[in-house]
Amino acid sequence: ADAAMYAAKRAGGSAYAFFEAHMNAGVREQIELQRDLRLALERGELLLHYQPKVSAGREVVTGVEALVRWQHPTRGMLGPALFIPVAERFGLISAVGNWVIEEACRQIAAWQEQGLRLRVAVNLSVHQLRQDDFVRRVAATIARAGIDPRQLTFEITESVAMEDAESTLQAFEALCGIGVHLSIDDFGTGYSSLAYLRQLQVGELKIDRSFVQDLESSADARAIVEAVIRLAHALGLKVVAEGVETAAQQDVLTRLQCDDLQGYLFARPMAAERVAEWAVASRRPNQLPFALSTYRP
Ligand code: C2E
Ligand code: MG
Ligand code: MG
Ligand code: MG
Repeated sequence: ADAAMYAAKRAGGSAYAFFEAHMNAGVREQIELQRDLRLALERGELLLHYQPKVSAGREVVTGVEALVRWQHPTRGMLGPALFIPVAERFGLISAVGNWVIEEACRQIAAWQEQGLRLRVAVNLSVHQLRQDDFVRRVAATIARAGIDPRQLTFEITESVAMEDAESTLQAFEALCGIGVHLSIDDFGTGYSSLAYLRQLQVGELKIDRSFVQDLESSADARAIVEAVIRLAHALGLKVVAEGVETAAQQDVLTRLQCDDLQGYLFARPMAAERVAEWAVASRRPNQLPFALSTYRP
């Protein structure tokens, strides 16, 4: 019996040691990342790239989405999928998120100085919506930047919006009250009820990339996208398709009356300085590079 117990202990022990080593690797990396992320905020290593959204029919730029990146001193350029979860886990998401909103507002004002009136969409994490003073802070940031709140859109994923329906509803109402636009990101992956969607004062749905990817191969995906577009339009919402990579996808989406398209087919996320250049370079005859390029300050 002693021998058996000894063997089990040893097996358990080594299994645990194995598990611990692996867990430690993951945890160690996360701890290093969160330490570096605190410094990154002070050192100004975060930056925003912007990916245009274009209108399906006329290929006019209707706005851009801000996507955060981290120029890490030793690891190179890191994408949000790597460090946003770390920020959320270690209580840094408000700091990162506030920086993103401030930077986006600053950029809106800078573009405006150059005569470009662009709408900018910013992605929100659920933790930001739960921040007590979130809406007041956003209002203050907008006022400081001296921009029109209607130029700012917040994208919230469908799953986040559904996660805490009551508090989301309150936050959306308050955000709507200060004049910003709201968009449901990655739509189709959650289970929003029609009634709830009507209550949320969103102006836009973004169809998840997974449906766009399957458009050519799957009649089901096409049926879902068609239904979503009809439903959204019936509710007075605009529809954006994300992750458009092929002309065939563009064709289907345009035929289904999708309003705006976004994806590598048109442009990858790019530095702010390149946005204006891109718009001019991609201009087609008889088309304005920006929907509001006639804007005069
Ligand atoms: P998202 O908001 O759904 O953004 C779309 C993601 O798909 C971006 O990845 C974009 O670069 C990528 N993408 C765009 N077009 C295409 C395409 O045609 N094909 C493919 N394969 N991918 C495409 P990215 O920049 O790595 O961002 C990933 C996610 O990280 C975002 O998904 C968003 O949920 C989150 N995120 C980005 N910036 C922020 C931020 O400032 N705050 C928060 N909380 N989350 C952010
Ligand atoms: Mg988004
Ligand atoms: Mg999305
Ligand atoms: Mg997505």
